[in-house]
Amino acid sequence: MRSYRLKDFEQPLETVDEDTPTPEGTQVLLRVKAAGVCHSDIHIWEGSYDLGGGRKMAMRGIPLPLTMGHETVGEVIAAGPEAEGVKAGDVRVVFPWIGCGKCALCQAGDEHLCNRPRALGVVCDGGYADHIVVPHPRYLLAIDGVDPAVAAPYACSGLTTFSALKKLEHVFKDEPIMIIGAGGLGLMALTLLKALGGKGAVVVDIDAKKREAALAAGALAAVDGAAPDAVKQATAAAGGGLRGVVDLVGNTQSTSLGFDALGKGGKLVIVGLFGGAAAFALPMFPIKAATVQGSFVGSLSEFHQLMELVRAGAVPAVPLIRRPLAEVGQTLEDLRGGRIVGRAVLTP
Ligand SMILES: [Zn+2]
Ligand SMILES: [Zn+2]
Repeated sequence: MRSYRLKDFEQPLETVDEDTPTPEGTQVLLRVKAAGVCHSDIHIWEGSYDLGGGRKMAMRGIPLPLTMGHETVGEVIAAGPEAEGVKAGDVRVVFPWIGCGKCALCQAGDEHLCNRPRALGVVCDGGYADHIVVPHPRYLLAIDGVDPAVAAPYACSGLTTFSALKKLEHVFKDEPIMIIGAGGLGLMALTLLKALGGKGAVVVDIDAKKREAALAAGALAAVDGAAPDAVKQATAAAGGGLRGVVDLVGNTQSTSLGFDALGKGGKLVIVGLFGGAAAFALPMFPIKAATVQGSFVGSLSEFHQLMELVRAGAVPAVPLIRRPLAEVGQTLEDLRGGRIVGRAVLTP
């Protein structure tokens, strides 16, 4: 088994060859068919989040060496004696946001929020390898013939945007929402919004190429976030103050723009982890009766809902950049440098 492993933060990944593990108990061994490259891998690689004002938050509990990769589709090769419901040859997308299974959050179905996570590719070994071990078949979802490279990103970028959009379900069927950030997540959000029956979205991005991609993907309008009147342009395009904003960037400028664009009763859902600090005008919280909510990946049950839409063909594929698995290091560099439009997926 060959893995591309993170041995030290900020350092190039190392290629490691070792024996392919034998699954035990409820474990399932899969041969990796597609591994999506996600922006959160860059935070893991760097080992920290930027909190603004020169402060950094170390990512806790990341054991090194680690095989990153949390958007994985694989073919079942073998299963432990207690793994039921899968057989060799099955192609499955992996739900990576695994918790301890015992705490109140896990018991309530929110394993993705567990304080003792066992997330694949984050604290346990993930998909930047030719094989992956998944602890239980319940984390393996059918893709029913969908291209593995198309299905892989649903495990993180798809689920993350799906869960964020679900937090605006009371709004998006009747009126436009705003999506800040038109990278891989933004394009995914546009397609999912359509699949969920949304009215559409005004997209904000500071990059002209990404605004173009957003318009091509069906955005109602695309606004330059760096324009001095960006809020005015966006609210004009939406026909008034927004009741729903998804911020997929999550830095000082994007959150203030999103907050300023909120109308009365509006909700800003912060998803992006670019970092920084925000200075909201506090009186505007009560005046607008505004809500600011964070959203972190999504639950196993949301992943089931999402994959049901995908299997039904209701979600158009987002633009993909396919690269060989061995180019994972270069792909992370390109993603960090903002040189990837769409979603990068590695295939063996
Ligand atoms: Zn991710
Ligand atoms: Zn737990």
